[in-house]
Amino acid sequence: MTSFQLSDDHEDLRRVVAAFAREEIAPHAARWDAEHTFPVEVVRRMGELGLFGLSAPPEYGGAGDFTSLCVAIEELGRVDQSIGITLEAAVGLGINPIAGAGSAEQKQRWLPDLVAGRALAGFGLTEPEAGSDAGATRTRAVRDGDEWVIDGTKQFITNSGSVLTSLVTVTARTGERPDGRPELSAFIVPAGTPGFTVEPAYAKLGWHASDTHPLTFESVRVPADHLLGEQGKGFAQFLATLDDGRVAIAALALGCLRACRDLALEYAGQRQSFGGPIGRKQGVAFQLADLDVMVRSAHLLVYAAAAQRDAMTSDNPQQAREFKQAREFKQAAAVAKLYATESAVTATRVATQVFGGYGFMEEYPVARFYRDAKILEIGEGTSEIQRMIIARGLGLPVE
Ligand SMILES: Cc1cc2nc3c(=O)[nH]c(=O)nc-3n(C[C@H](O)[C@H](O)[C@H](O)COP(=O)(O)OP(=O)(O)OC[C@H]3O[C@@H](n4cnc5c(N)ncnc54)[C@H](O)[C@@H]3O)c2cc1C
Repeated sequence: MTSFQLSDDHEDLRRVVAAFAREEIAPHAARWDAEHTFPVEVVRRMGELGLFGLSAPPEYGGAGDFTSLCVAIEELGRVDQSIGITLEAAVGLGINPIAGAGSAEQKQRWLPDLVAGRALAGFGLTEPEAGSDAGATRTRAVRDGDEWVIDGTKQFITNSGSVLTSLVTVTARTGERPDGRPELSAFIVPAGTPGFTVEPAYAKLGWHASDTHPLTFESVRVPADHLLGEQGKGFAQFLATLDDGRVAIAALALGCLRACRDLALEYAGQRQSFGGPIGRKQGVAFQLADLDVMVRSAHLLVYAAAAQRDAMTSDNPQQAREFKQAREFKQAAAVAKLYATESAVTATRVATQVFGGYGFMEEYPVARFYRDAKILEIGEGTSEIQRMIIARGLGLPVE
């Protein structure tokens, strides 16, 4: 495992984001959740703070440090999981596919606004019949002269229909590979392109202040230069993007874990029963001890994986070493995602239990964290898919 230590700069950033979350998000989080409001002005303020550019390439206005992004997502997620996922998806699913596979023109056209948080991009991989099995994509793109014509449906797409959304990237079949499997390519579809419809937002269990829509594409024409990366490389590009996203989701889960430990600890010291605080009972105290173990373990896994990611971007001319690094990072990302997200779900259950009946009331944040946590085990690869990746990384021929 890569050793790591968060630098003074990371801790300074943590203080800045924590103050922003405390002052500008915490007072409104319950209302945004209850009213299902996507808080556009706060997202713009996050842009002004530079949060969308933390890991983006410096030549497009970013700071190029993935660990910083994880710190920011963790601090936002400690207060409001919806705002945390808005940043996570905007970078991991919005900026990264273009920064990683885009042409110079595409980067120049789209990245400055995305990096500054003046615009958001969605990432359209999942379809009604293709989620974990994303290679089963049915959306098609057919070349017609200087254009591609796209037809299909995408589902559960984050940041895809907000007033700030400037584009979505989507995977589509562009042919058949020699082995008979579909050839998948990726395309940039600007918001407002005729035939591209953002359907009404979902009614979700949690993440109420995050923007999620089904999308339909009916004879959507985009210029040939909207192909993202090479034809036939769309699936591989998206899978590479997901490794970073998994660590970032683990950071979001770490924020949830810390919130649950801290809220439950405070309550356990105050709530009286049988003549004293409930925290003096081992039945409560030991559960809080377990939460602390989860927080510390998740912290180590998240920031060790983030440090590995940052090390991969430094100069490394030896291809073999790069490949080994990428493989080890894939494993570290899946382990961090699996552990942190499953722990977060457990932590919300424990925290709600410590709060007793009050934990079931929306006036206490633990109820919101309880609803918000479940999706962490599903999005950007379910727990089962993480276990599959980890087992394959161990050399097992898992199907
Ligand atoms: C709020 C929200 C936001 C999202 N945002 C985005 C987004 O921005 N972009 C995007 O592209 N997608 C997004 N998704 C989709 C998300 O990534 C998928 O829901 C997820 O990957 C699971 O796919 P599925 O829902 O089709 O479930 P399925 O793939 O149908 O899985 C159903 C169950 O079967 C299990 N399963 C499937 N295959 C296997 C296997 N081989 N071995 C063992 N178990 C298996 C799964 O683990 C799961 O428990 C979002 C989803 C939600 C709910």
